[in-house]
Amino acid sequence: MSGTPVFNARGLAKTYQMGEVEVHALRQVDLDLHAGEFVVILGPSGSGKSTLLNILGGLDAPTAGTVQFRDHVLTDADEKALTQYRREHVGFVFQFYNLIPSLTAYENVALVTSLATETHGTTPADPAAVLKLVGLEARMDSFPAQLSGGEQQRVAIARAVAKRPDVLLCDEPTGALDVETGKLVLKALRDANREFGTLTVVITHNATVASMADRILKLRDGQIISDERNESPADPESLVW
Ligand code: ADP
Ligand code: MG
Repeated sequence: MSGTPVFNARGLAKTYQMGEVEVHALRQVDLDLHAGEFVVILGPSGSGKSTLLNILGGLDAPTAGTVQFRDHVLTDADEKALTQYRREHVGFVFQFYNLIPSLTAYENVALVTSLATETHGTTPADPAAVLKLVGLEARMDSFPAQLSGGEQQRVAIARAVAKRPDVLLCDEPTGALDVETGKLVLKALRDANREFGTLTVVITHNATVASMADRILKLRDGQIISDERNESPADPESLVW
């Protein structure tokens, strides 16, 4: 892929000191991620997936190496700059949905879009349009407790993409869901990626989920062991696992 990457990571390492033992969560990771890509990072539990995602999202710092987001060197940024970076440029989707229980689906999304307008003047998406994109047009006035796990995750996706981030970082977004529900969540991510052209990074330990990506990065023991382009990404609705 040509053009300036959105992320450029070089020589990333993360080491934890556990008493006498050093845990190498990441070792010598070099990575370029480009606008519009739908990237899956695939690896077994403990391979360093969350560590890598958290570093890209400015939630964690590497022990060595650099991460550049466009012109900003994240690894030189202070806490205040990282908070601003996350707020303005990153959408996060985690395994658990973290919706505000006292607000409807629509209000959960609208809260984020109104904050985005106030704080950094970008033009966020219309909450109703994004909820429609993730297949929840009929559930906009429901409260989280009235929605299934998969529906709540789709509200969380709508909330994350509605502020029009440059990158959407998803840590095991289908980890808590059954297969059928998981498919709808993956379809929502895929549709949002295609609609807005947002660089989307999804981490999973499930190889079937990876087959819907444009690009599959495999992580083992903190290292990228393969980086492949997928010319014919699977339709999320056709996945079986
Ligand atoms: P994954 O998301 O692929 O399951 P992680 O990135 O969470 O992997 O963890 C990678 C390795 O780093 C694992 O061996 C894990 O135990 C270790 N690790 C992660 N966070 C910490 C921490 N805060 N302290 C010590 N070790 C950690
Ligand atoms: Mg993890």
